[in-house]
Amino acid sequence: MSDKSNLTRRRLLAAAGAAPLALAAGRAFAQTAEGQPMPGNAALPEPMEARMGWAVVGLGSYALGQVIPEFPAARQSKLAAFVSGNPAKARELGGRYGVEHLYDYRTYDRMADNPAIDCVYIVLPVGLHAEYAIRALEAGKHVLCEKPMASTSAECEAMIAAAKANDRQLGIAYRVHFEPHNREALRRIRGGEIGAMRHIHCDHGFNASLQWPPHKWRLQKALGGGGSMYDVGIYGINTSLMMLDEQPVAVSAEYAYPSDDPRFTEVEGGIDWRMRMASGINVQGSSSYCYGPYAARQRYFGSDASIIMDPATTYYDNTLVMDGGGPRREIGAGNSREQFAAQLDGFSEAARANRPHLTPGEMGLRDIRLIEAMYRSADNGGAVIEL
Ligand code: NDP
Repeated sequence: MSDKSNLTRRRLLAAAGAAPLALAAGRAFAQTAEGQPMPGNAALPEPMEARMGWAVVGLGSYALGQVIPEFPAARQSKLAAFVSGNPAKARELGGRYGVEHLYDYRTYDRMADNPAIDCVYIVLPVGLHAEYAIRALEAGKHVLCEKPMASTSAECEAMIAAAKANDRQLGIAYRVHFEPHNREALRRIRGGEIGAMRHIHCDHGFNASLQWPPHKWRLQKALGGGGSMYDVGIYGINTSLMMLDEQPVAVSAEYAYPSDDPRFTEVEGGIDWRMRMASGINVQGSSSYCYGPYAARQRYFGSDASIIMDPATTYYDNTLVMDGGGPRREIGAGNSREQFAAQLDGFSEAARANRPHLTPGEMGLRDIRLIEAMYRSADNGGAVIEL
């Protein structure tokens, strides 16, 4: 327990010196990302001794269910260490996956002395992302941090400043950028197959439970950062902007959830939101902790055709349907599962070359700033917030 209480410490002094990044900077990093190698595209699997070594921090449901089991599919990345507040769990997993370097949250900074660790993957509750990302960067490691990047834009700025100060890479784990159906949708949209983009609509949500520990912290502001918008609405923002060649100029939002629901005393249960682009395109979405069983869909409406992805952002079973330009048809784009290893290898490649990841910290900061602006709008009855 003492390990966990240590986690509440904040080491965000760097925030004071962090230069504010304009939302418009998103354009610059999008261009930087273009022209980079296709993520995870090593011609052959590298020998184990040549691969980048990863420490996984926080052995919870996502780390155990998706992140760790996908390492064997990677070609340039290998497991090197586990960090956990539960030593018995860490030992058991260490034995199962052949991982000999085990740390807890007090011994965390000793990773600095371990050359087997190149990259640190933060899979902790959101409220702990900034502290543990900054500590890993200060230990000289590259950091891939789960989404959403952190609780506030000030924390995100501090993380970016720490990456720069230590000359390390900081990426945000937006796995959708590495997922075959979404990459195929991007290719078709950029290739003009739906004509001019007219509108994007997206919905993301599930039914949150106060009884299940991984949901419980999501309903607490200190650990969740925010509500459904932080946890799943962010997929709608990030995935939609992935498909567009411009950044939003205004946002608006309204809260949408049962007012007497005991789950939502600290964070919002749902939001209906909108982003307006300079070109006139609107992206409209909803996020919710009250949808059953699960919503994860994106729809792209073009002048000639539409792309319907329902689901669009799940782990294993995304789909892509083209409607228009011929009969309505499902497009086979590959195995969604590949996104996990592709993301690991994409970050390993970026870290090895010490160049920005496809989805860098600046992208995470952009999205948190957008959500903060949406909350300002919702707090003001849905007023339009110019960016
Ligand atoms: P869990 O609650 O299942 O796991 C979090 C783990 O963090 C815990 O098991 C624990 O591991 C560690 N931890 C340390 N301190 C605390 C604390 N005070 N309270 C709770 N846990 C603590 O959460 P998830 O795995 O669902 O989420 C973890 C991160 O992954 C979040 O950032 C989330 O947004 C992200 N995520 C991303 C997904 C994606 O598709 N990209 C999907 C799901 C989650 P230990 O006991 O080892 O210390």
